[in-house]
Amino acid sequence: MNAEIIAVGSELLLGQIVNTNARFLSQQLAGLGIDVFFHTVVGDNANRLESAIEIAEQRASIIIFTGGLGPTKDDLTKETIARHLGKRLVMDEAALSGIELFFKRTNRQMTENNRKQALVIEGSRVLPNDHGMAPGMVLKKGQHVYMLLPGPPKELEPMFLQYGSKVLSAEVESNHKIVSRVLRFFGIGESALETAIIDLIDNQSNPTIAPLAGDGEVTLRLTAKHTDEAVALSMLDEAEDKIKQRAGEFLYGYNNSSLLEELTKVLKKKRLTITAAESLTGGLFQQEITSISGASSIFKGGVVCYANEIKQQVVQVKQETLEKYGAVSEQCAQELAENAARIFGTDIGISFTGVAGPDPLEGKPVGTVYIGMSIKGRPTVVEKITLGGPREANRIRTVKYGCYFLIK
Ligand code: ATP
Ligand code: MG
Repeated sequence: MNAEIIAVGSELLLGQIVNTNARFLSQQLAGLGIDVFFHTVVGDNANRLESAIEIAEQRASIIIFTGGLGPTKDDLTKETIARHLGKRLVMDEAALSGIELFFKRTNRQMTENNRKQALVIEGSRVLPNDHGMAPGMVLKKGQHVYMLLPGPPKELEPMFLQYGSKVLSAEVESNHKIVSRVLRFFGIGESALETAIIDLIDNQSNPTIAPLAGDGEVTLRLTAKHTDEAVALSMLDEAEDKIKQRAGEFLYGYNNSSLLEELTKVLKKKRLTITAAESLTGGLFQQEITSISGASSIFKGGVVCYANEIKQQVVQVKQETLEKYGAVSEQCAQELAENAARIFGTDIGISFTGVAGPDPLEGKPVGTVYIGMSIKGRPTVVEKITLGGPREANRIRTVKYGCYFLIK
């Protein structure tokens, strides 16, 4: 099954607005496992729109229209499609009472033009507009599915998410089973990951591989379709194996799981307890870990040691260490982690010290971070990372790096 998106609007051709609807719909359709082969833009002109429809019918089974459902003269999408398909426009009572209610609520006078917005193509399924007036429509004729959506993104997006996507996924599932899996990566940037698997992405069609980056993490959504669900699942496994061969060391989890959840799972399984001595992160690690239910079996408590005297008095970092190397140092991170584990009586001690910004500290640049990890029966490890973000992002990423190092 493949789709073409036809955006209707002369403003698009004049360059006055950008076709963000096509981008949104393409992303959504990829998630549903529907290939989008063409984006078309056509002005508010009935003849040219009709020829765009004729071309689309030859190369796509699903045709999605955006724009031109409004009340004004230049809005001619549904009229043109109705004429093209030899169908009439009929009044949709539910849509009409929705529009009447809208006018009553906003104390405005309803015009005859507004009634026109409640006209729908006969035989179509109406998609309610919860954020505006013009309803959407879906209809099937022959081999084709036609979907009409309003132009304004704040109307189109919720309408598609709420109603349109269900219609399309039912359409697809009547032929195929669609399965998807999200692979979660940390410690590798989006472009580095993409470069590592670019040939897999370029050759994808089934399963599709869709990267997404955010909060220092990258995810890949794999979506496979097949008439037999077991076959679709094995296609996902196969794609995952190929990706793992290239970037497996950065894969930490699946679907919605977070680094902290993964860490909690690992520690529970190994029956290990943990404490934290946090300078740079000011308790963020402890806040996050205690937000996971069942954390009490692994997390005993910890300390926020922001000032140097607290590092010294509470976590027993040697004065000499602070004087000689500073608080942002490998030596300080090591002592914080080791001492915290000893003081709190845990198997693992983790420490975070660094320069969150915006100003440098001890002559060390913003983004310099040391993470100490004291794990019972092993030599203490200190990882140095360099972050480039603003203060809050640096703190969040530091916690994520800490979890990532411990999982590995
Ligand atoms: P309305 O009832 O508001 O007239 P409509 O369905 O008739 O909605 P249009 O008149 O084509 O839609 O467009 C209305 C507005 O929606 C445009 O001015 C623009 O801001 C936005 N819009 C339309 N098409 C797109 C698009 N493809 N991408 C992003 N925004 C769009
Ligand atoms: Mg309009």
